[in-house]
Amino acid sequence: MPNRLNYKELPLMAAKRESTWLKFLNRNRKKIETSDLKIQALHDEVSERTDCLECANCCRSLGPRITDKDVEKMGKALRMKPVDVVSRYLRVDEDGDMVFRSMPCPFLGDDNYCAIYESRPKACREYPHTDRKKFFQIYKLSVKNASTCPIVYEVMEGIQEL
Ligand code: SF4
Ligand code: SF4
Repeated sequence: MPNRLNYKELPLMAAKRESTWLKFLNRNRKKIETSDLKIQALHDEVSERTDCLECANCCRSLGPRITDKDVEKMGKALRMKPVDVVSRYLRVDEDGDMVFRSMPCPFLGDDNYCAIYESRPKACREYPHTDRKKFFQIYKLSVKNASTCPIVYEVMEGIQEL
């Protein structure tokens, strides 16, 4: 069944589920710690039936952390010097991280395609992280991300059935 969750409704939906998800963590810590493979399978299943091009909420609202290596790659794709990529598109945030100067991301098109997709920053490639190893380490972060990302919301719901 396709993932029909509307990102606009997610903040309210996720807020309603937050305490249940956190209670599950407290009661099932061991189970979550040993369920990476099951959670990765859940991530794959949900991702396959989610059309990111209908959403793009992460590209619209979350500022990925951008590394020097990312800047170099982006520079090659844009045929710009890294220093010019930084001055045109990036700023340093309050935590000292490089992020896009403004959001929505300057590379997000009206059709929700990424103009630098093959050279997008590592943080963009790895989002929403629900397939990473040691998922329990980002369980609480994922509770937060569920208010932004339909994939995370569904994975969190799936984890409650583990
Ligand atoms: S990763 Fe999540 S928030 Fe980003 S476009 Fe896909 S479904 Fe939407
Ligand atoms: S670089 Fe591409 S994938 Fe990353 S936020 Fe911008 S549009 Fe989205």
